Amino acid sequence: MIQFLSTRGLGPMACSLSQLTRNIRVHSIQCIKLSKSLHREPLEHGIRRAFATVTTSSVGAETGRANANRDPMFRWKIDLVGDKIYAEDKLSSNKVSIPGRWLRDICSCSSCRNRDTAQRQINVFHPTFADACKISKIQSIDSPSGRAFQVTFKDGHQSLILAIRLEQRHAHEQALHRAGQTDMTFWDSDISKQPPVVNYQAVRDGPGMAELMRKIQEFGFCFVSEMPVDPSKTESFLQSVGPIRNTHYGGFYDFTSDLSMKDTAYTSEALEPHTDTTYFTEPAGLQALHLLSHTSGSNVGGRTWEDGLGGESILVDGFAAAQKLLSQDENAYQLLSTVGVYGHASGNQGISIQPSRGFPTISHHPETGLIEQVRWNNADRAGVIASWNILDAWYDAAAKFDGLLHDQKNQYEFQLKPGTLLRM
Ligand SMILES: [Zn+2]
Repeated sequence: MIQFLSTRGLGPMACSLSQLTRNIRVHSIQCIKLSKSLHREPLEHGIRRAFATVTTSSVGAETGRANANRDPMFRWKIDLVGDKIYAEDKLSSNKVSIPGRWLRDICSCSSCRNRDTAQRQINVFHPTFADACKISKIQSIDSPSGRAFQVTFKDGHQSLILAIRLEQRHAHEQALHRAGQTDMTFWDSDISKQPPVVNYQAVRDGPGMAELMRKIQEFGFCFVSEMPVDPSKTESFLQSVGPIRNTHYGGFYDFTSDLSMKDTAYTSEALEPHTDTTYFTEPAGLQALHLLSHTSGSNVGGRTWEDGLGGESILVDGFAAAQKLLSQDENAYQLLSTVGVYGHASGNQGISIQPSRGFPTISHHPETGLIEQVRWNNADRAGVIASWNILDAWYDAAAKFDGLLHDQKNQYEFQLKPGTLLRM
């Protein structure tokens, strides 16, 4: 669970809706989910193949086959020349030099690493450590963890380096593993037939937590059912998922549509599809909404809602919209993936927030090429970092994306209810 949060590099943020008063007719919240990953080849490798999903199991199977076929001790011919190690890849005849500093740097023995925290306790950059990084002997051995090199350094230190480390150092599979890649499901309005949900009790007691994390990763959101209608229970539940990130709104907060904070989220106005906190360099990765009370009434905007007013909401799958944009117009996708856009938060006394740079609407993981994030907030958008000669084309591309987000076929409409938490 913590692994999931740390790989996203983001903490959760929480709020709850409460005390919607009778004079408020409707409260709409529309969000595009953030941070759902799917497979995408880097742009230069052809964006047609961008959205073939990668499953964890297939990656694992591929890695297993590769390891069986390419036992690194047979694949790599290791030579010690002077105090330098050379490894020749017999498959490609590539010969590479393996830095002694790297070998010493990754030593996992108890004097090089703290056994409790796995933190490094040596500094290979320090001049006094120069000899400690030169190699006097290397031999291959079978260790309980697999084939390995026993490396002896000039200071007498011995390191056991698993041979697989040579292959994993810069491998695509390793990057996927670090990114916490899991199966993804893209959805449209049909998700209303079976939206992802986990039970509060199951999460609180343990086994449901992994399911909650997996469903958020797979769908970009998940409901938690049978929550106590009590803000303190909501807060402690969220803290069990991870530390709550503080913002200028607070970390966890109750609010009603009274414009107590100067943001249209604090009104009963319908909001356009958007992602939140685009004005942060690191937007909130996970958010939670728990509607605590409705107002009475049953018909808003020509639609009949089951229970009173408030909490009428729409979710759009931002990654699915990006996928559709790519299939319709590659150039538009390219523009939204490369042109930086600023956001701002300026409405409140003493608060003026902008990200450290303009971020593209659609961004990708630099190593894996996976789509990593969609940032979209028409209301909070500030400067678009496009030169004059492409600015009009950027507006065309953004209009296409906006059209996909507003297309009812892509929207999941629902009403938040007391006792059901929305996690996204
Ligand atoms: Zn060591």
